[in-house]
Amino acid sequence: MTTVICPYCFHRAKAAHLPYRCLMKATGIRGGKPCDAARDDVWAEFMGPSVPPALRMRGPVFAPPRGFGGLGGGSLPACPGCGATTPVRVCRRCHSDFPSDYCDQDSRIIALVGAKASGKSTYVSVLVNELRNRVGGAYNASLAAMGGDTQRRDREMAEDLYDRLRLPEATRPAAMGFNDPLLYRLSLPRRGALGEGSRHTALVFFDAAGEDLKSAEAMDRYTHYLSAADGIIMLVDPLQLGSVRDQMAAGEGPPLPAVETSPQQIAADLASQLRTHGRGRQRGRVTTPMAVAVTKTDMLRPLLGPHSPLLHNASHSGGVLDDGDRLTVHEEMRSLMEGWDSGALRRQLERDFAELSFFGLSALGAPPPAHAPADAPKSGPQPLRIEDPLLWLLGRRKLIPVRKAGAKGAPA
Ligand SMILES: [Zn+2]
Ligand SMILES: [Zn+2]
Repeated sequence: MTTVICPYCFHRAKAAHLPYRCLMKATGIRGGKPCDAARDDVWAEFMGPSVPPALRMRGPVFAPPRGFGGLGGGSLPACPGCGATTPVRVCRRCHSDFPSDYCDQDSRIIALVGAKASGKSTYVSVLVNELRNRVGGAYNASLAAMGGDTQRRDREMAEDLYDRLRLPEATRPAAMGFNDPLLYRLSLPRRGALGEGSRHTALVFFDAAGEDLKSAEAMDRYTHYLSAADGIIMLVDPLQLGSVRDQMAAGEGPPLPAVETSPQQIAADLASQLRTHGRGRQRGRVTTPMAVAVTKTDMLRPLLGPHSPLLHNASHSGGVLDDGDRLTVHEEMRSLMEGWDSGALRRQLERDFAELSFFGLSALGAPPPAHAPADAPKSGPQPLRIEDPLLWLLGRRKLIPVRKAGAKGAPA
């Protein structure tokens, strides 16, 4: 049975148990009068005091009729008040409306964590583009934005980055706020005993500014979000690390970004949040899979050998994820991090997280032009390994096929 996680409050429920919201439309079928709007106090309380009283009046919410499947078959339940049918499902706990196709598949929450300027919006925008093109082609996957809000922002992000060559942060400071996750439907081929078909997964990307992990008011929401997450992608800007900054300062190139909350601090706050929510069962280490992605690897080229795996994308041949390739990248990143601030970040992550993998990626493939730091390179984004962290998390959940390390040919 399909399990749906509310992308707004992270309440988990069986799809068939979700209530409906009446659309207050005249049907003409029975000549009935449409329902009047009713005060939705559950929703208003969840949204907070910023919602004006008039907007609190919404279509009445009703429980699914007893014995009503409500899934597939195209049958819709009739509102007990007016007799009109409605397709709109709402969360039981917060009464937020779900996008029309959100409840047809299981949900996977991917939490994206990083300091404010770690490039989270650029990362998601380029990742989505790769999943639709190069990576999607390799895995025979397709990705669709769900709901009007994500569709609009998805289009705006793509226009900014790919048409105008503007980095999202420069134009839209909060492209992904805490209250508006990005919702996508990922469709992958399913090869089973019953033949071929598609398997759909709702991917929820949630942006958590690392700075907010400490604030008491955000704490309650964040812990729900983080404990619902199937995996965490933590973006680490290497230019935030003291020893990397020192090594880069001598060279030319664009100015270094301002120093923000350190990755060590963000990782420590993240681990303590997850522990307080019962996700720390394995000898005190947090069990949520943690993909630590060091960004801007294009800036690190002077530190890499000529055969570094960070210089090219994974092949994804045959639509299979090569776990040996991931381990090569993991070891390369691990040894690089050993030289950064005496390996403090690496040690702390390994102490706090039981399932941990290091990644290195570049969303743009080259630094922004020195004279225009808010622009993408003139050639447009040429990402390197941007898909690796997400594919690892999907592989762990058996959503894509994985070739185990050493399973093919002899190791070099
Ligand atoms: Zn909810
Ligand atoms: Zn009604």
